Amino acid sequence: MAYKCLHCGAEIKSIDKFVRCPYCGYRIVVKERPQIAKEVKTD
Ligand SMILES: [Zn+2]
Repeated sequence: MAYKCLHCGAEIKSIDKFVRCPYCGYRIVVKERPQIAKEVKTD
């Protein structure tokens, strides 16, 4: 599963419980979803 640094947007792989971006040291990352586009109806 891939993660993404919220600060610099770098991709981070293989994560433990506490993650830190290896590039900027930011500690908040988000999960990147495998499926990108999802069709959603917004009527
Ligand atoms: Zn970063």
